[in-house]
Amino acid sequence: LIDPLRSAAWSQWSDTGGNPMSLHRPKLHSNRTISRGPKAGRRILVAGGAGFLGSHLCHTLLNDEHVVICMDNFETGRMSNIALLLSDPNFILVRHDIIDPLPDIGPVDEIYNLACAASPPKYQIDPIHTLKTNIWGAINLLELAVSCGAKILQSSTSEVYGDPEISPQSEDYRGCVNTMGPRACYDEGKRAAETLFYDYCQTRGARIRVARIFNTYGPSMCPTDGRVISNFMVQALSGAPLTIYGHGNQTRSFCYVSDMIAGLMALMAAPDSAVGPYNLGNPEEFTIAALAHGILEILGLPPIIHYRDLPQDDPRQRCPDITKANRDLNWAPRISLAEGLSYTMPYFETELRQMKPALIAE
Ligand code: UDP
Repeated sequence: LIDPLRSAAWSQWSDTGGNPMSLHRPKLHSNRTISRGPKAGRRILVAGGAGFLGSHLCHTLLNDEHVVICMDNFETGRMSNIALLLSDPNFILVRHDIIDPLPDIGPVDEIYNLACAASPPKYQIDPIHTLKTNIWGAINLLELAVSCGAKILQSSTSEVYGDPEISPQSEDYRGCVNTMGPRACYDEGKRAAETLFYDYCQTRGARIRVARIFNTYGPSMCPTDGRVISNFMVQALSGAPLTIYGHGNQTRSFCYVSDMIAGLMALMAAPDSAVGPYNLGNPEEFTIAALAHGILEILGLPPIIHYRDLPQDDPRQRCPDITKANRDLNWAPRISLAEGLSYTMPYFETELRQMKPALIAE
């Protein structure tokens, strides 16, 4: 495994004298210019458009002069993620839960399905709703896609591999998933959605693309969503001990959000034959303990860590084999973990200033 404190990526950060501003910054929300009027771009539905990934996608698509219809039930999506877009004439917000029949939004050219809580504590609050989102929601969106000949992209997940017995995971690995556990509603929901996409393609001619998204982070993550990067950042910045679940020797691979958005858009732009599934993620693998120490080192903080029980069915390892996406989509992530964390830190500092201390995740 790569030790982040000694990896090339980490030394690149150190070589800048610890000043992340001297590195190339990918374009994110704050860089966008508001369009002045209706454009001749495509009409694109982003289901889950107010969420972490969805809102970044909406910003990028609007910057590319498309008309964006953002559909969200605001279960985990946040108005603050899309606040800058509300005055844009090319941005249409529809508050709707995709498990219910879709309202008439007119024809669309492309559909991105990013509508599902993705953080384990959040998707486990109402597991039956999580399953319905993945299954009924997928059916509603697929019906729309078929009715107007739109391309439709499913945000699937590395969770389809469950607790994998092999690493890295390539797309032909079929996974090791518990059907009756706390993560099953998400894992099996996403697996069923992949099957629905495949069957709509086979039987109804749906123009599908399936991306398997690995752990992704960056600005606009909800500070209280309970995921490891948001937890560690909020804890470190507020002077609280970092909470490692288990011994911290489980691994994850973290992709910066701008790289993920580029991957999703490359997949949508690919020929209809590129149905996938495609792994999208950063193949640099870190232990959770290494991540904790890396974040503390960036902030120059002593290693104060509290160990908690490992949640049931927590995958021991996760690392994408991205050979297929690299070959077919000419895509690979460009932002190292050290670099991405340095872009993300100022966002959490700002969020923290606005949060009540009681809300800080433990
Ligand atoms: N984790 C941790 N401390 C936290 C939050 C998460 O040690 O405060 C661990 C968690 O048990 C898992 C990994 O970090 O092994 C990634 O968790 P996350 O919820 O971000 O996503 P997952 O990959 O499990 O869906």
